[in-house]
Amino acid sequence: MPDCYVVIGNPVAHSKSPWIHAQFARQLRQDIEYARIEAPLDGFARTVDAFRAAGGRGANVTLPFKEQAFVYCRDAVSLRARVAGVVNTLIFEGGGPASEIRGDNTDGVGLLRDITVNLGRAIMGQRVLLMGAGGAAQGVLGPLLGAGPQCLVIANRSAAKARSLAQRHGAAAGGGYDELGGAQFDLLINATSAGLADEAPPLPPSAFAPGALGYDMVYGRDTPFLAMARAAGAEARDGGGMLVEQAAESFFLWRGLRPDTAPVLAALRQP
Ligand code: NDP
Repeated sequence: MPDCYVVIGNPVAHSKSPWIHAQFARQLRQDIEYARIEAPLDGFARTVDAFRAAGGRGANVTLPFKEQAFVYCRDAVSLRARVAGVVNTLIFEGGGPASEIRGDNTDGVGLLRDITVNLGRAIMGQRVLLMGAGGAAQGVLGPLLGAGPQCLVIANRSAAKARSLAQRHGAAAGGGYDELGGAQFDLLINATSAGLADEAPPLPPSAFAPGALGYDMVYGRDTPFLAMARAAGAEARDGGGMLVEQAAESFFLWRGLRPDTAPVLAALRQP
């Protein structure tokens, strides 16, 4: 019987993870199954318990359960996930109800690989603006700071959340969009869900420095933030690359094999 994996979220019907992991499995000749489970908003732990009891070997966790997944990991949490306080990958060692439960977070490494390897952009020495203070922003903040930017500023609609996130991680500053003043950035990362509602964070167009990259973690659609970046003369990229790279890291944690992400990303981008 193949090893079983799932992505758990609410909503989750839109998730491309089953398709991506099917590509990885075919590429590396792994006999696995990967499905979607929509957990009730008040039933994350119950849902994971049932999947584990049925022999499930691992899960990706998406909105809005990443903080609950962190709490669920009773046996071990990786350093990067502990720093983030959120988990997006669960590993069930052994299988069955008595399996060891380990947690990790692959969002940060996924974003960094997409920006530095796929897009060929440096982070070291750059002025970075991170928009948002939810699970995605929390997951990538530590790895971004570790990449050595000249400065990293967090802006969020709820300014207090950005401030406390910045304080916890020693980022340069955190606050509301209206506090950005005339500051300019080389790398502007939109980790908000605004694009899903066809909205952009309220960012002054002057925030894009000449030659800047505007990166929206939302994928598969041309968001108002990407349009804003293009209008300001910046390079504009969506989060498709991050999605594939964070999935590849999860696959590695589960199977010990590293997929070649380039053909999968190329296929994902095909209309
Ligand atoms: P959360 O719900 O935890 O956080 C949402 C964030 O977006 C909050 O900071 C919220 O601000 C902000 N926000 C929502 N609407 C607006 C708006 N109209 N204007 C300004 N800010 C807004 O979500 P996640 O952090 O988990 O995910 C964020 C996005 O990143 C999602 O769209 C998700 O699909 C994407 N993502 C992509 C990944 C990839 O691999 N490409 C990986 C992970 C996430 P406030 O705090 O004020 O409410």
